[in-house]
Amino acid sequence: MKIICIGRNYKQHILELENKIPDDIIFFLKPETAIPQKNQPFFIPDFSNEIHHEIELVIKINKTGKHIQKQFANKYYDELTLGVDFTARDVQDKLKKESQPWEKAKAFDGSAPVGRFICKSDIHDIRNLNFKLFVNKKMKQYGNVKSMIFSIDEIISYVSKYITLKKGDLIFTGTPSGVNKVEKNDILEGYLEDQKVLEIVIK
Ligand code: MG
Repeated sequence: MKIICIGRNYKQHILELENKIPDDIIFFLKPETAIPQKNQPFFIPDFSNEIHHEIELVIKINKTGKHIQKQFANKYYDELTLGVDFTARDVQDKLKKESQPWEKAKAFDGSAPVGRFICKSDIHDIRNLNFKLFVNKKMKQYGNVKSMIFSIDEIISYVSKYITLKKGDLIFTGTPSGVNKVEKNDILEGYLEDQKVLEIVIK
């Protein structure tokens, strides 16, 4: 099982980090060990002083696929949820400056908690889906799939040109703006429309 994460997929988030809008989809991987044990808190690692939350819509691949055409991509997932792409921003800034890969900042243990999965068929309109992250009961991130630069179907099609997708793989589809540093004892809650699907305590 692998975790594929999309970078720079919402314009406002690209602007807040002063990055360039990509011409092409950016993706990177996290290993299976990035998923924490069930109900574990998120432990701030000792190699970073600036862990950011990035709330993202996450889809679960339901069958093997390679070179998936965009018009068939929606057949390759039937469950989705929210996840947090925890990012050691201080480490990432340093790696970016040195043109090094991002794994130390992105792929560490526990860096990809995911919430309770919802069936796609239970979602009213997948093309107009809202999601939110609350930190200590205050809304910090808000996204709608309509604001994605690359759609879920485009992402599935694109990634599958390079990497065979397999049942159980997860795709994190990018974060909207509002990313920020987490602190010990913060409580993060993720909502897909009005359903709470995710809760993480920071330790
Ligand atoms: Mg991200």
